[in-house]
Amino acid sequence: MRETADPDALLSWYDRHARQMPWRVGPKARADGVRPDPYRVWLSEVMLQQTTVAAVKSYFLAFTERWPRVTDLAAAEDAEVMAAWAGLGYYARARNLLKCARAVAEEHGGVFPDTHAGLMALPGIGPYTASAVAAIAFDRPETVVDGNVERVMARLHDEHMPLPQSKKILTEHAEALTPTDRPGDYAQAVMDLGATICTPRNPACGLCPWRPACAAWAAGTQAELPKKAPKKRKPIRQGTAYLVRRVDGAWLLETRPETGLLGGMLGWPGTDWVDTSEPAPAEAPPIRAEWKTLPEEARHTFTHFHLRLTLKTALVPMDRAPERGAFVAAEEFRPADLPTLMRKAFDLARPR
Ligand code: SF4
Repeated sequence: MRETADPDALLSWYDRHARQMPWRVGPKARADGVRPDPYRVWLSEVMLQQTTVAAVKSYFLAFTERWPRVTDLAAAEDAEVMAAWAGLGYYARARNLLKCARAVAEEHGGVFPDTHAGLMALPGIGPYTASAVAAIAFDRPETVVDGNVERVMARLHDEHMPLPQSKKILTEHAEALTPTDRPGDYAQAVMDLGATICTPRNPACGLCPWRPACAAWAAGTQAELPKKAPKKRKPIRQGTAYLVRRVDGAWLLETRPETGLLGGMLGWPGTDWVDTSEPAPAEAPPIRAEWKTLPEEARHTFTHFHLRLTLKTALVPMDRAPERGAFVAAEEFRPADLPTLMRKAFDLARPR
């Protein structure tokens, strides 16, 4: 008969194999009484949403070096934080990050609430982040369910209902296993198991502490799980970006509106983006100029659509005033401050 998955078996595995991450207090240090800094746990969790550990590490280190405490981040200029976030994507996260840091600084004396409910009351913190911070930073027995955990639960229970319909069932399975002893380590242990052993392809079942309890392993179905509902094809949108250089080398940039895609980020002025099944958007040049259309488009994929951006460039004299945006001097312009789409456009348009 198959065993029941034992949280202790997973915790012993974690004690030996925990991944080292810049925001993590490992199991040994934790057992020695080191407590994680809730600011670092929260920052890492926000950064990790929709982004890989490998992509997040350098951003996390840069942020914590520049803003070591939540009160430092709360006091930062919006534009500085948006620029430091450039390239990580999902820019609403950066705007919410600032709102949350300011709420913690101003309303909680710089101290994060230590319960799920208290964390949920902060701006920009949803149920997932509240559970993760409550569990990892404060050792609350909260259940943390990310894609890794869903995969592990689907396999452990040989659950064939496809995601996303199976989310509720998988969460219930995860809740049933969450222990009251060491819940912070446990939350990280399940995620590590999913990331390193119970991987999407070729899970290393021979090394898995939960193999004796795994229904998919017993049935030989682990490679097919979790099942996923077929994805809808993403629509394609089109638009134009205007990359204007002044003869002294300055670039014409504008800060995008706070709401909407890439909200609050620096970018090239441009038209609306419309579906390719609709008429092309009206031209919206930010300055009077002779435009050259580049042979290549900037292409980028967002969560819900692909974008094809026509690039128009122009060189303008010193006395030409823009109708939108502002010139940024060549020595102050840092392509790294731009979101990925805008950087792709720059790479195609920059003088060689
Ligand atoms: S035995 Fe294999 S499929 Fe089952 S939980 Fe472990 S790694 Fe995943």
